[in-house]
Amino acid sequence: MKYDQLLMVLLLFSVCIILSTSFVSAANNTNIHPANTTVLTSNSSPDTSPPITTSTNPGKSALNVPVNQHIKITYNEPVKFESSWIELRNSDGKLIPITKSISGNTLTLIPTSPLNMSTTYTVSVHTKSISDLAGNGIAVNSFKFTTAIRIDIINTKTGGNIKKNSVLYNYIPKTVLSAQIISKAKTGTPIVTFGDSNGPKILIVAGVHGNELPAPAAAMKLINYLNGKTIHGTIYIIPFAIPYNSAHTLRYWKGQNPNMVANVYGTPTNIIVNLAMKLHVNALGDFHSSQPGGVPGKDAIFCTKAPTYKSYEIASYISKNTKTSLITYKTAGVEYPGALEDECNLHGVPAVTCEVLEQHGKLSSDKLNKSYREMIALLTYYNIL
Ligand SMILES: [Zn+2]
Repeated sequence: MKYDQLLMVLLLFSVCIILSTSFVSAANNTNIHPANTTVLTSNSSPDTSPPITTSTNPGKSALNVPVNQHIKITYNEPVKFESSWIELRNSDGKLIPITKSISGNTLTLIPTSPLNMSTTYTVSVHTKSISDLAGNGIAVNSFKFTTAIRIDIINTKTGGNIKKNSVLYNYIPKTVLSAQIISKAKTGTPIVTFGDSNGPKILIVAGVHGNELPAPAAAMKLINYLNGKTIHGTIYIIPFAIPYNSAHTLRYWKGQNPNMVANVYGTPTNIIVNLAMKLHVNALGDFHSSQPGGVPGKDAIFCTKAPTYKSYEIASYISKNTKTSLITYKTAGVEYPGALEDECNLHGVPAVTCEVLEQHGKLSSDKLNKSYREMIALLTYYNIL
């Protein structure tokens, strides 16, 4: 029994030691935890930092942005709307309708209809328009982007490498856009489209005669000027009607003067007449140059009064605004049958031919700029810029 009693005492003693050890360690643990929590809390100050933009899509000053782009702005922390004063404006400052939404760190802006091509837009996320979840409003953030340019090929049989014509190429602005057009011109006749489908539509044609260089250079200058501008209508520009001829300074195409066969099915100029009708353009301007002693042998604006009288009104305006001689004919297709201008006029498309005086195969900035001013005058007549 004594032995049993002793065993019991030892057993109880052991249990006590185990329990007390556990208790001490548990007590130590409970002491440690509150201490740690207190340290963490005292080190974490309230969130007073506004969200910071980490990326935008499109990127700042991005080019060639698709017209159906969803604009996304990402922040370094989750955000929510505050005043929601967020704007998208075109280069005229006109407000573009958008829907706005937020998911986590990302603000998404979706224009309610597709954007215009070749137009620069500004996104403005104004001060305190959005905030982080603690209510810290953002600082204002603005950025611009430019939508893509539309370049189509209207005739795949006329391609040529414009760079081979060094006289012409030297006067073409060296931009990404110029490079795109010159690259496309290797595959055929390029047409560049600016603006939207509202308002007047103007078609500018250069390079019907590949040995006349001021107009194609002026058309390329105009294309680069219009890039990113808001256009009040649509401007179509064909800078090289027959790129192969412009590349090699050639006047004739398959043995024919291209400006005498616009009434012959399938010729490069006939394709342009049909395009002008299909697009329902308000006017077509065909830009040329004339040698000394040639016809007209001077800077001049040509037109015909019948059947499309509007041609005369446009030509008069360009003549007056560029201080250039006006040459008027009575009926289209009589003096110049098969001319691009005459064929358009006969089909009810107002058309003018604008000439500057320049040797074939030659080019000076004076004549380039004169041709350019004639193009601008045509656009100004329609209040399209
Ligand atoms: Zn010509």
